[in-house]
Amino acid sequence: MIASEEQLINAAVRLFQGSDSAVAFTGAGMSTASGIPDFRSPGTGKWENADPREVASLTVFRNSPEEFYEWVRPLAQQMFSAAPNPGHRALAALERAGFLTTLITQNIDQLHRRAGSKEMFEIHGNIGTASCPSCGCTYASNQFKDDLLQEEIELPTCTQCRCILKLDIILFGEILPEKTMCNAQKAVLSCDLMLVAGSSLQVFPAADLPAMAHRNGASLIIINHEETYLDSVARIVLRADVAKALPAIVGRLPTR
Ligand code: ZN
Repeated sequence: MIASEEQLINAAVRLFQGSDSAVAFTGAGMSTASGIPDFRSPGTGKWENADPREVASLTVFRNSPEEFYEWVRPLAQQMFSAAPNPGHRALAALERAGFLTTLITQNIDQLHRRAGSKEMFEIHGNIGTASCPSCGCTYASNQFKDDLLQEEIELPTCTQCRCILKLDIILFGEILPEKTMCNAQKAVLSCDLMLVAGSSLQVFPAADLPAMAHRNGASLIIINHEETYLDSVARIVLRADVAKALPAIVGRLPTR
C-alpha cells in the first residue's frame, strides 16, 4: 500500500522525535516559493540558453567580469528583495525547538539566516559579502548593493587595490570552502537523522553529504519535487512542496 502524504508526514515527525541529532541539507527548491529560480538549472530568463556551468564559472569571472556581473545582477536583485518562506521559517523553528542541530545549505540567498536559523553552514557561500581576489579585503554587499541593482553598473572594486571584487559565492570550477566543508562533514558524521529538503542532489561534492550520513547509519528523510539518487535508501520520500511539508512536520512536533 502506498502511504499517503499525511502518513509520511506523521512518520517524519516520529523520526524527529526519536532523533538525538538531526541535520538538514537544503537546496534551490527551498527558495522557489520565495521567487528565486534555481540558477544552476538552465531555462531562467535572459540566460535561458546559457549553460550555468559556463557563465557562473570562475573562468568567466576572471576573463570577463562584465559578463559575470551581467549574469549575477538579476539574480542578486531577486535575492536581495526576496523574503523567507514558511519552509525557511519551519527549519528555524525546528532548530529553536531542539529538533535540529545543524543546517547545511547549498543556497547563497541568505534566506535561512534571515528566517532565524543559527547553526548553519552555507557551503556554496552567500551574496552577503564580496572579497578582493588580489588582496583579500572583504566588503559587505550592502556597500555596493545599490550599484548592483542598477542596470548599468560600475563593477564593484577594492578600495585598497582597485581590483574587481568577487561575490563570496562558490562558482563552478571553484573549490568549496575547506573549513566550512570540514565543519559540515563533522555535523553529518555525528547525526542520526538527515533531512534533505528542496535539493535534487545533483551538484557535487555537496550532494555527497547526505550519502555520507546514510553510510554512517543516519536515517534519511527526503522532501523534494524531483527524484534524487538517494530515494531508494531513504526512510521517507515526500514528493511535496517544502514550503508546505516542513511547516506541517513542525506543527505536529511538541516542544522539547
Ligand atoms: Zn584589493
